[in-house]
Amino acid sequence: MNIDKRLVRKDSLEKLFDILKRNSKTIYAPFTKNGKSTFRDTESFGAISTGYIQTTESAKDIAFPRTEKLLDFSKSKEGMSVKGTDLNDIPDVILWGVRPCDASGIGELSSIFNWDYKDEIYINRLSKVTVFGFSCSKSDEYCFCTSVGGNPGNTAGSDILFTLLGEEGDYLAEIITEKGLAVVDLAQNLFEKTDISGKEKFLAELPVKFSHEDIRLKLDKFFESKEWIEQSLRCLGCGACAYVCPTCACFDIQDEAHGKKGSRVRCWDSCGFSHFTVHTSGYNPRNVQSARWRQRIMHKFSYMPERLSVYGCTGCGRCSRACPVDMNILEHLISIQEVTV
Ligand code: SF4
Ligand code: SF4
Repeated sequence: MNIDKRLVRKDSLEKLFDILKRNSKTIYAPFTKNGKSTFRDTESFGAISTGYIQTTESAKDIAFPRTEKLLDFSKSKEGMSVKGTDLNDIPDVILWGVRPCDASGIGELSSIFNWDYKDEIYINRLSKVTVFGFSCSKSDEYCFCTSVGGNPGNTAGSDILFTLLGEEGDYLAEIITEKGLAVVDLAQNLFEKTDISGKEKFLAELPVKFSHEDIRLKLDKFFESKEWIEQSLRCLGCGACAYVCPTCACFDIQDEAHGKKGSRVRCWDSCGFSHFTVHTSGYNPRNVQSARWRQRIMHKFSYMPERLSVYGCTGCGRCSRACPVDMNILEHLISIQEVTV
């Protein structure tokens, strides 16, 4: 559909919040505690954080929870019984305050969950989510969305994208999808017709720092480079980078049983963990941290573009902000571009 542009007044956002709550929507929005902001089920408009450059954690767990029960099982004289997730139980969610790099990451995550296997639970969860993106009016030294095909006002992945129009506090609302249109239908009077079209002057300026296409081509010949060792020397293998990343999709599945009953759960995993690829025999094809760091970069900048035609990085910079030993993916990508092979 064509993008429709509307004006939302500063004081209309709270009214919109109230209307959505009255229509039984669950609203996940950024909430800040002890300097960390995460998406939480929010009952009060006043509790929503503003002014953050980027939330500490991404919003991916709205469709791909950190831990998730896939099914319950039990054993009796009659045999085994299995009860799967009731997909009708998934609530309608408004994901409020997502930065454009995170919103576009939903598309990348979806390409993984729709690849060789269609993940029904993920697909159903996402189908119930309406994404309210909020453009970036500022950035920091970790941000690099413009180097991986995005921009601070990117509409990809959002159902409605709000852009703050200067200090008066009004917003340009771009209605991008049918889901976004359904929200407008609930609150027609809050979305005023407008002839404002340009939003660029209200967006953060973020120069391109490397070419993701050049990196992809370079990686074809970079597998055996000593650069991986140099880059990963201080990596602890803690997995924080994968946990905060909007596009990291690795998970583990485990059965947790108590007596004759149990549950099958999946939980996030990370290619940075030393045991991630350990075989049953004990052999580990990625037995050193440099091989694991290489996998992280190769997957995002070589394997995903090759298999799925998308890059696995949106340039949000979270992995660098979260890393306890200051591993900086932006610096590493720039050095890969500069190293001669
Ligand atoms: S957060 Fe840093 S130390 Fe931890 S696995 Fe990632 S790169 Fe390594
Ligand atoms: S790899 Fe780092 S910068 Fe790229 S999307 Fe993931 S967390 Fe963001």
